[in-house]
Amino acid sequence: MEIKKLNKPFRIYITRNKGPFGTSAATFKKELYKENPFCAICNKTFSIHYFDLEHWIPVGIGGKAFDKTNVRLCCKDCHNKKTDMDKIIIYFFKDMDFIERSGSELFIFVDLETLHELYTFLTKLSLSGKEHKKNYSEWENISTALRFEEKDNQN
Ligand SMILES: [Zn+2]
Repeated sequence: MEIKKLNKPFRIYITRNKGPFGTSAATFKKELYKENPFCAICNKTFSIHYFDLEHWIPVGIGGKAFDKTNVRLCCKDCHNKKTDMDKIIIYFFKDMDFIERSGSELFIFVDLETLHELYTFLTKLSLSGKEHKKNYSEWENISTALRFEEKDNQN
């Protein structure tokens, strides 16, 4: 995967309170539950109160908040695990200077599509059942490779 840093970051504003036409998160959740009352990760069913809206690409890195291609219904257990993983990946992105958050503003220093592709890759790596420690070392390898690529691009 080729990562090129942009000369100028682009900025997006993060809003997650309301969807199109004023749809609230609660309404959106009910709609998804009606369509398919199963957790997108463990595939179990629960009462609606035990479900959360889960963003495959986190809103905090530019994922769409009210789009069915990005929002899924997950049970609270799976949602918590996924959120922990999101935090690690976002930390990694910040560490690599790919993103910078400032309040509701998000500055992105790489192509958004590439960032999301990389996110999906890292998430799948984490979901593959390996321990986090192992993933950290794999990520280190990836970040080293990316740093080298960055240097190569400058030459
Ligand atoms: Zn689940």
